[in-house]
Amino acid sequence: MANASSTDILIIGAGFSGMCAAILGREAGFSVQILEKGADVGGVWRENTYPGAACDVPWHLYSYSFFKEVIFSRPYPQQAELLSYQRDCAKHYGLYDCAKFGVEVASADWDETAAKWTVTDTAGQRYEARALISSVGLLSRPAWPNIPGRESFAGQQFHSAEWDHSVELKGKRVGVIGTGASAIQFIPEVAKEAGQLTVFQRSAPYCLPRFDEPYGPIKQWFFKHVPASDRPMRFGIWKFGETLAKTFDEGENRVSRVTRWATRKFLESQVKDPELRRKLTPNYEIGCKRILFTSNYYPTYERDNVQLHTDGIAKITEKGVMDKNGVEHEFDVLIMGTGFKATEYLAPMKIHGSAGKELHDTWGAKVGAYLGMAVPGFPNFFMMYGPNTNLGGNSIIFMIECQARYIVQALQALKGHKTINVRAEPFAAFNQEMQDRLQKMAWATGCTSWYQTADGYNPTNWPGPTAEYRERTASFDAADYELA
Ligand code: NAP
Repeated sequence: MANASSTDILIIGAGFSGMCAAILGREAGFSVQILEKGADVGGVWRENTYPGAACDVPWHLYSYSFFKEVIFSRPYPQQAELLSYQRDCAKHYGLYDCAKFGVEVASADWDETAAKWTVTDTAGQRYEARALISSVGLLSRPAWPNIPGRESFAGQQFHSAEWDHSVELKGKRVGVIGTGASAIQFIPEVAKEAGQLTVFQRSAPYCLPRFDEPYGPIKQWFFKHVPASDRPMRFGIWKFGETLAKTFDEGENRVSRVTRWATRKFLESQVKDPELRRKLTPNYEIGCKRILFTSNYYPTYERDNVQLHTDGIAKITEKGVMDKNGVEHEFDVLIMGTGFKATEYLAPMKIHGSAGKELHDTWGAKVGAYLGMAVPGFPNFFMMYGPNTNLGGNSIIFMIECQARYIVQALQALKGHKTINVRAEPFAAFNQEMQDRLQKMAWATGCTSWYQTADGYNPTNWPGPTAEYRERTASFDAADYELA
């Protein structure tokens, strides 16, 4: 399939998605090149180094089903352990031989005549391939809050995804904006260092406990030496995730009632002060935003040096934060735990498909892809962790493996042809189905979240169980595609 100057498959990004596509693609006999803008593999687990960074899905399920060489020290892997897992995996499968680091892709252009993609990086270097796989992740571009006066702050400020480890927090007056999945992990750690910490909460998250005792030597030995010893836990955690996902289904159901009850009981057990408990009680439908797993977040507010502020932010000033009551809170450091630009898929890259049509122009406001992977008019192009494949209650690695297997099958079907292009009908029907289903789910019940755009369109989430996604992607159906 390859010629002298190109590879069969070019993959953009070396996080969990890109690595998986590369491993399975090479195993199927394709030549692969990975382009990665960072200095190593790892994706979000290389980028997010904030204190307390860890995965809220246990490693048994938050790891590839086919690579279990690394022994984790506790159920919920911390950032450094996950990154080390990814590095070991990359070494094991020889990915460092086919990856180029420090290469940021600016654009990709489909050449109709030659039936190949030409990718150009920000330095003007070009790469060619017959097939292009975008694996740029969903949560890779930090979102800074649009709060007036942010530039006027005279102290130090940074975003959780770009943690500035050179900033000394010891004894400092620290303000944190946001109480999402990242913030609830770093707030307990910052509280230990800061002289005084004020957390500005706009909406309270629903929380469940995280049982994360470090493993003793017996458990470590067990996982290392007993083959497939992770499997029962892996299945159990997956099954739990499938059940938890029912919380997001239309209307109230038994699972959502139990989940809400469990979050309330957990809050009551950890926070005794009724006023504080009131502030920490969410005022939106459970599941509308991500449910968080943490056992050390609520107790942080019992510390004398920590204050929870819920009256809203009017503006950021030179000295700190002015709240909506007109009170100015002075800080040395401001930390933004304000999330990511998740709905801007593949930005800022420009992807030009058939007739030079750009992907974002094709999408307009309605981002979507067949099975989250393919868009008509963009031949030989697939996305990993693309539109409508994010989950609220299970491991994304499961979805990533389904996608990599499907894409490899598609590329095998391409052998003997020049192009593979998803048909307009299955693409349109799939997107319609996604939006019809999503409009009835907890995510559409009126809260603001990174799952949706401002007008309520949900380009991010998968509306069913992961078992359904696996079933629908297990065998590639050539009838959904034009092969030419
Ligand atoms: P996030 O969930 O989007 O949370 C952002 C927080 O910032 C929210 O509390 C939000 O309040 C607040 N915020 C945003 N703009 C604001 C403004 N202008 N004024 C005041 N508050 C503002 O972001 P995240 O915590 O970085 O997490 C994003 C996703 O990353 C997660 O949902 C998860 O999928 C992933 N993640 C996963 C893990 C893991 O353990 N696997 C860990 C970290 C992150 P509102 O809620 O009111 O908008």
